This record gives sequence, C-alpha cells and structure tokens, in this order.
Amino acid sequence: MSSDPILRVGALTKNFGQGDSEVLVLKGIDLSINSGEMTALLGPSGSGKSTLLSILGTLMRATNGSHEMLGVDLMHASAAQRTEFRSKHLGFVFQFHHLLPDLSAVENVMMPAACASGRVTGAMRDRAAELLDAVGLADRRDFRPGAMSGGQRQRVAVARSLMNGPALVLADEPTGNLDRAAADHVMELLRSINETMDTSFLISTHDEHIAGQCRRRVELMDGRIIRS
Ligand code: ADP
Ligand code: MG
Repeated sequence: MSSDPILRVGALTKNFGQGDSEVLVLKGIDLSINSGEMTALLGPSGSGKSTLLSILGTLMRATNGSHEMLGVDLMHASAAQRTEFRSKHLGFVFQFHHLLPDLSAVENVMMPAACASGRVTGAMRDRAAELLDAVGLADRRDFRPGAMSGGQRQRVAVARSLMNGPALVLADEPTGNLDRAAADHVMELLRSINETMDTSFLISTHDEHIAGQCRRRVELMDGRIIRS
C-alpha cells in the first residue's frame, strides 16, 4: 500500500445561515487521506460527519479553508470542474441505497458511467456485471431493487460507487439501515475491495463495532476532529 496523500483539507470550516441564525458546523478540520486507506469517520449524530463527507465529495462547498485532491484545488475550482472531478474520481454510498426502482441491478450499477458519457455501451454493461460478481450478486443482475434484501441493495450501491473507478469512495453510514449480519457482510466486502482495487474508503458511522473494522479511525465531535 502506498502512503501518498490523495486528499488533503486544512482549516476547513462550514457555516450555515447568517447573522443571528448562523450555525458553525465544521470548526477547522485538518485531514489527509492516503492512497489505499480505509478510514472510519466516527462521531455521534450531529457531529458533522455528513457535512464533511458532502464537502469532501464536492457536493457542497466549504465556507473556508483548503481542499485539494489528486493535485486539484477543489476549493477554487468551478462548478463544472467539480462536477467532472466528482464523476471521475469519487464514489458514493449512502445510508439509504438510492437505487432507481425501475432499473435492474446491472442498470443501476451502470448509471454513473451512463450519466458521465450520456450513453450506454456494451462495455459498461460488462463492467457493471463484473462489479456485481465482485459484490457476490452475479445471480441478481436482472433483479430490481424491490426484489432484493436491504443488504443486497446496499451491495448493489457499493458496486455502483465503483463503476467509474474512483480513487476514493465516501460512504455515509452505509450500514446504518442494516441488521448486524448484513452490516458485517457489507463491511467485509468494503475491506476486500479496498485490498484488491486500491480504492480508498472513508466511512462515517456512529457505531464502534463498524469503526473497529477499519484500519484507521478519525473521531469527530461537535465539528472538530478530536482524535485521528
Ligand atoms: P452527522 O452526519 O454527524 O449526524 P451533520 O453533518 O448531518 O451531522 O450535521 C451536523 C450539524 O449541522 C447538525 O447540528 C445539523 O443540524 C447541522 N446542519 C446540517 N445541515 C444543515 C443545514 N443545511 N442548515 C443548518 N444546519 C445544518
Ligand atoms: Mg449524518
């Protein structure tokens, strides 16, 4: 595993609202993520985990501070540059799978590539099928989300997050909606992908048991990193 930082943020802040109603949600975050790292972002509800992941994922801009990934200054990049960067280099898994109900598993997995290029190709379909194999769902390719269990749906979401070959996958409480056995299965899967594909993962959770399955942990409390 190499130890080059792929992502670095410094003195990162995020405020919502203005004047009397201003809320300081992130109060100066310094963090780097190395290539191939699997990190738990552990913190209680309201500590700022989702806000930080949204900023790192370029879904939201920080108020202040520096934000660089793969040599690109994302703090000062245009909206169009950030969108392109997101599609090429970042993957997302959310607590709720956000799969499209009318599409099959393989079509859902293809979506990030289809959206990026505006078309669907046979090569995309092949890659999506391979990713479904990798998450243990080869026999569910043509199933719609409604015909799968919660754990299976979340494994489809994991496969989808990998479709464009991201350097970093941001997973916001990916097991928060699953029972213990299904959660462990998803975590095992993330670990094996992390080992075989050289993809870094940052996984938010408020669950010690889940955090314990990551090699590195960063603890967030009230908008500050209290341990890393
Ligand atoms: P976590 O994911 O750790 O539960 P969040 O990042 O969702 O934490 O939220 C952190 C804090 O920021 C909470 O107090 C929340 O109410 C506040 N917050 C989040 N989004 C907004 C928003 N759009 N406007 C105002 N406050 C927000
Ligand atoms: Mg959250």
